[in-house]
Amino acid sequence: MKRFEWTAPTSVSEAVELLRSAPSFADPDEAPRPLAGGQDLLTTMKEYILRPSRLVNLKAIRGLDRIQGDGKRGLRIGALATLARLEEHPVVRRDFPAIAEAARSVASPQIRNLGTIGGNLCQRPRCWYYRLEEVVCLKKGGTQCYAASGENKYNAILGGGPSYIVHPSDLAPVLIALGASVTIAGTEGTRTVALEKFFTLPSEGSIRRENILRHDEIITEIQVPASRFAARSTYLKFKERASFDFALASVAAALELDRDRTVRQARLVLGGVAPIPWRVPKAEALLVGKQITPDLLNQVAEAALEGARPLAHNGYKIPLTQALIRRALTQLAQRA
Ligand SMILES: Cc1cc2nc3c(=O)[nH]c(=O)nc-3n(C[C@H](O)[C@H](O)[C@H](O)COP(=O)(O)OP(=O)(O)OC[C@H]3O[C@@H](n4cnc5c(N)ncnc54)[C@H](O)[C@@H]3O)c2cc1C
Repeated sequence: MKRFEWTAPTSVSEAVELLRSAPSFADPDEAPRPLAGGQDLLTTMKEYILRPSRLVNLKAIRGLDRIQGDGKRGLRIGALATLARLEEHPVVRRDFPAIAEAARSVASPQIRNLGTIGGNLCQRPRCWYYRLEEVVCLKKGGTQCYAASGENKYNAILGGGPSYIVHPSDLAPVLIALGASVTIAGTEGTRTVALEKFFTLPSEGSIRRENILRHDEIITEIQVPASRFAARSTYLKFKERASFDFALASVAAALELDRDRTVRQARLVLGGVAPIPWRVPKAEALLVGKQITPDLLNQVAEAALEGARPLAHNGYKIPLTQALIRRALTQLAQRA
C-alpha cells in the first residue's frame, strides 16, 4: 500500500474541501478518496490499484447514517447507513422489501456490518484483469480490455465495449427499479440526480470511472420515492458460490397490480450483465395492461435480453437472466 494522508472531517463541507485541496495528481487512480466502511477501498489500495494521496474518512460525520421515512412518505437513506441496518430495518423490509433483500444478498454478515450503501454504489469493478495488480487494462490507463478476448465468463453481455466490466453493486439495480435519486455534495454545492443517470457506460464519459462523481464530491443521501410498486418488489441474484459471491446475473423487479391482477406498472432492472445496472423498458412495457401468464413471461424475458451480445465464455448469462426474470415476476404476481 502506498503511503497516504489520513483525515477525519466532522462535516460534509469539511470533507469535500479536504477532497478538493488534496495534493494534485496526474492519474485518476491517485485522486484523494472518501472512505466509508473500507470493504472495497482498502482492498484496491492494498493491490496498488487505487493509490490515493489522501483518505477522507466519512465516518465521523454525524447524521450521515440515518434511515428515515416509510412507504407513504418515501425513504431517505444516509450514505453511511450500513447494509446490515438496511437488511434488518422493519420499515425497509415491509415497504421496500427488494432493498432489504438486495442488502442481505451482499457478501457476508461481517462485510455487511461495515459496508455502507454509499460505498456499495461507488465500489470499483470486480473484473479479474482490473483487480490484478500486474495487468494494466483499459480501466487502469492501458490500451486493451483483456476480457474482450480473454477469460470473460463474468463479463458484460449488454452495453459492453470498449471495456466489458459488469457493475458489481447489488443495491444499485433495486434502487433504480424503485426510482431512487442520490444527493451529491461538492465544493460547488449540492445536486440531486436520478440514480439511473448516475452510472456511466465505458463508451460514455471517462473509461477510468463508472459514474458522474467528481473527485471532490461525495454522496450524502439516497432518496427512494413513495410508489405503488415499492411494496411489491423483489431482488433475485444468482451466485456461483452459495456462501457469498457477486452476481453472475440478478434481477430487480417491482409491480403494481390492479384488483384483477392486471399489471398497472412494472419495473425491471438487470444486474451482473452490463457495465451499469441495465433497465429494460421494452420488457416493462410488455407487462403493462396484462395478467401474468407463462406466455407473457417468455415474451418479457426474450425482450429483456434482446440486445445481448455475449463474449466467447458468457453466453450462459442469457438463459440464466431470463430464468431469473420469469421467477421474479412469478413470485411478485403470486404475493398477496
Ligand atoms: C469478499 C467481498 C465480497 C463482496 N461481495 C459483494 C456482493 O456480493 N455484492 C455487492 O454489492 N458488493 C460486494 N462487496 C463489495 C463492497 O465491499 C460492499 O458492497 C460494501 O458495501 C462497500 O461499502 P464500504 O462502505 O465498505 O465502501 P468503501 O470501501 O469505504 O468505499 C468503496 C468506494 O466508494 C467510495 N465511497 C464510499 N462512500 C462514498 C460516498 N459516500 N460518496 C462517494 N464515494 C464513496 C470510496 O472512495 C471507494 O472508492 C464485497 C466485498 C468483499 C471484500
